[in-house]
Amino acid sequence: MSISSFYPPQRTLMGPGPSDVNPRVLAALARPTIGHLDPQFVAMMDEVKQMLQYAFQTESALTLPISAPGSSGMEACFVNLLEAGDKAIVCQNGVFGGRMKENVERCGATAIMVEDEWGKAVDVAKVEAAFAEHPDAKVLAFVHAETSTGAQSDAAALAAIAKKNNALSIMDCVTSLAGTPVKIDEWGIDAAYSGTQKCLSCVPGISPVTFSEAAQETIKNRKTPVQSWFLDMNLIMGYWGKNAKRAYHHTAPVNSLYAFHESLVLLQEEGLEAAWARHVEHHAALRAGLEAMGLSLVVDEADRLPQLNAVSLPEGIDEAAVRGRLLNEYQLEIGAGLGAMAGKIWRIGLMGHACNQKNVLFCLGSLDAVLTDMDAKINSGAAVKAALASYAA
Ligand SMILES: *Cc1c(COP(=O)(O)O)cnc(C)c1O
Repeated sequence: MSISSFYPPQRTLMGPGPSDVNPRVLAALARPTIGHLDPQFVAMMDEVKQMLQYAFQTESALTLPISAPGSSGMEACFVNLLEAGDKAIVCQNGVFGGRMKENVERCGATAIMVEDEWGKAVDVAKVEAAFAEHPDAKVLAFVHAETSTGAQSDAAALAAIAKKNNALSIMDCVTSLAGTPVKIDEWGIDAAYSGTQKCLSCVPGISPVTFSEAAQETIKNRKTPVQSWFLDMNLIMGYWGKNAKRAYHHTAPVNSLYAFHESLVLLQEEGLEAAWARHVEHHAALRAGLEAMGLSLVVDEADRLPQLNAVSLPEGIDEAAVRGRLLNEYQLEIGAGLGAMAGKIWRIGLMGHACNQKNVLFCLGSLDAVLTDMDAKINSGAAVKAALASYAA
C-alpha cells in the first residue's frame, strides 16, 4: 500500500451543487473537535438554531439541522408527517418531485401526482383540481426551486391551497434557501427542508429543517411510531430541543456544524435581502452574456431561478465534451441535464459564495473559449462585453 494524502484540485463550482465554499467556512471546519455534549458546543448549537430561524424567516422553535444531506431533510418531512394509509398530493415538474413520490410510497401512503412539464412552474390550478378530487389529502408536497430545470414555483399560493384544504404543506427549498426569498411563516409552510451546499456557501452533509406548530401537533399525535429511528423528530427534539436535557441521540457532525455556524454568520453579516439581490444581479449579467453568445435559457423568464440557469446547447455540440474541457482546462465545473433533459442542456449554478462577478466573467470567458475552439455556431467574443454592460446598467 502506498496511497498518500488526497489533495483535491482547486475548482470553481458553478454546477447544481455543491457550490464554492466560503474560505471562512473551510477554516471553521479545521478547528479543534470538542464533544457534542460539551457545554460550549451546546451553546453553539443554540446559535445555529437561532440563525436558521432567520434564514428560514420563521419563529418556529422546531428549526434545526439534521446531520445528513438534503435528502435526509426530505425524508424527515415525509416520515414524520405521513402514516400508512395517508394520502399526499405531490407536485412534480422535475427530478426532485419524483423523489418525493418515492418517499410518500415508502411511508405506506398514496401519492396523488400533479405533473407539469419539466422547466415549467407547478400549475396552481391543477393542484386545486387535485384537492377537489381528493379532499382527504393530508399533505401537499412541492419543490420550490427545481434544481433539475431551474424553475421556481409559487410557494405562497401552493401553501395557501394546502391550508384552505386542511392539509399540511411540505416544501423543498434546498436550492432556494439564501438564494431567493423563502418566507416560511409569512407563506404558512408547515414543513421545509434545505441543504447546506447550495446557496448557503457551506460544505455538503447537513440538512436544515423547520416544522410549524400544526406539523408538530401532527407528529405528537401520530398513531404509529415514525418508521425511521434516526429521523424521528420526537427523538431529535430531545437532542436539539430548547429545554431538552441534550441526551445522546447520535454524535453530531461537530466540525461540519462549526462550518455551518460560520456560513450562517456570513449570511447574517450580508443580510438575506442583500443575498437575494446579489443572486439577481449576477444572474442578469450571466444571462446577458449567454444570450449575446447566441445561447438561450430554457425556463420562461417569470419562473426563472437566478441561482440555477438551464442553458440550451449550440447546434451539433456534444455537451459532455464541453463540460470535460471546462473541467480539465479551466478547473470549472458546470452541470449536465438530468432525466428528460440529459444531453440537451447545461446547468450553470450561481449559488452562494460562487455567485459573484469574477465567476460570471470567468464562466462566460471559458465557455466562449471552448466553444470557439470547437467551431461552435456562437457569436465568439461577445459574452463578456454583454455581461459587463449588464453590470454597468
Ligand atoms: C440537491 C437537492 C436535493 C438533495 O440534496 P442532497 O444534499 O444531495 O441530498 C433535494 N432537492 C433539491 C431541489 C436539490 O437541489
